[in-house]
Amino acid sequence: MPIAKDSYGKIFDLLERHHSWFRENLPLIASENVPSPAVREAIVSDFGNRYAEGWPGQRVYAGCTYIDEVETLCADLARRVFKAEFADVRPISGVCANLSVYSAFTTPGDLMLALAIPNGGHISSGRMNFSGTAGLVHGLQIEYFAFDSVEMNIDVEKTKTKIKKLIDDGKSPKMAMFGGSLFLFPQPIRELVDFLKSYDILVCYDSAHVSGLIAGGQFQDPLREGAEVMTLSTHKTFFGPQGGIVLSRDKYSEEIKKAVFPGNTSNHHLHTVAGKAVALAETLRFGSEYARQVIRNAKELASSLHNMGIRVLGEKNGFTSSHQVVMDVTTQGDGGSFEKELERANVIVNRQLIPGDISAGRHYLHPGGIRIGTQEVTRLGMKELEMKEIAEFIGRVVLKHEKAKIVKKDVKTFRESYQKIHFAFDTKEEAYKYIRIR
Ligand SMILES: *Cc1c(COP(=O)(O)O)cnc(C)c1O
Repeated sequence: MPIAKDSYGKIFDLLERHHSWFRENLPLIASENVPSPAVREAIVSDFGNRYAEGWPGQRVYAGCTYIDEVETLCADLARRVFKAEFADVRPISGVCANLSVYSAFTTPGDLMLALAIPNGGHISSGRMNFSGTAGLVHGLQIEYFAFDSVEMNIDVEKTKTKIKKLIDDGKSPKMAMFGGSLFLFPQPIRELVDFLKSYDILVCYDSAHVSGLIAGGQFQDPLREGAEVMTLSTHKTFFGPQGGIVLSRDKYSEEIKKAVFPGNTSNHHLHTVAGKAVALAETLRFGSEYARQVIRNAKELASSLHNMGIRVLGEKNGFTSSHQVVMDVTTQGDGGSFEKELERANVIVNRQLIPGDISAGRHYLHPGGIRIGTQEVTRLGMKELEMKEIAEFIGRVVLKHEKAKIVKKDVKTFRESYQKIHFAFDTKEEAYKYIRIR
């Protein structure tokens, strides 16, 4: 009895403490965001307790009258926002969206092209021996795009040479997965699409990180540039609940539907489908303004850090055209230690493998980089001036080795005036308000 009651109380205590902390810190993880109060309302609804296997109108379960309408609306909005012929909004995460695409278009043993992890690749398109999803779960072989770490982008000519060599050796790639997790600049889809298609390589684009920027029309537009299929996470630059979506040309719709259900989902987290629909509506109205400010903020943060003497990747091309800023902290220390120290100062970032780390003997616990994203603080209403202040906080830890406790006090004071969500229809409640309905 006491254990049950104690644990029960403790869970809520910890949840509330988390909320208080996030009211006072700088949330700069590039793969996270804060949804609007409207999205949060949708995701505590009863939709989250139901099943709706199948497609709207053809469900395996009863009780889906309103669920069907919301899901249909959600898919309509997704097609409109991303100008896509087909949308499947059921994948429960970006990884699940990618797995659905792998299973729709490849069979185990096939070869896929993707980015290597230190060059920005995500573990969901990784090799079996790194427990990458593509290799481990679907048995894909992975070869890497050639990468230019000065341009911080795929090297078009070297990639072509590599593919020709693979084909000469009897190893024809089946699919090319563009996109990545360390993602500063639009990738050369246009430059590679004809070449890839001439060898029957399906062109896919994993927009997990940049889907909010694409939705706002401020990054590249993969489906216009030649990608046939695009996957997304709905909670990084796109400010919805945690989840995934697959978009494609119409001719692939049947294969994708089957791969999502029954292939890769059973229940598909219907509360998040409602949340995705709300976020898509918000994006339709506010998405372009939001995405523009996110990128402006990233550029300002990058140049402020650079001017303070921190090495920032992508200098040759103006540091960034996305929400991300990546610092190389190898002259000051390492990414793992700074991640911890910055957290003590209430600055929440993550360490990042960067090009050159593996050959220099650095690994993911203590890599050379720190990755920063500006999307969440942009949602809190911060602009270029605030980015200069954030750069100062980071510099005080990374360059001046000031005591974290002192920096933390100033971060808390700074954060007080940024509590409301911007770029949303309803903004009455504070972004990190803890809502009690017990
Ligand atoms: C984050 C990410 C994913 C996985 O998304 P989840 O929604 O966390 O499953 C897939 N691909 C890339 C490139 C990512 O950065």
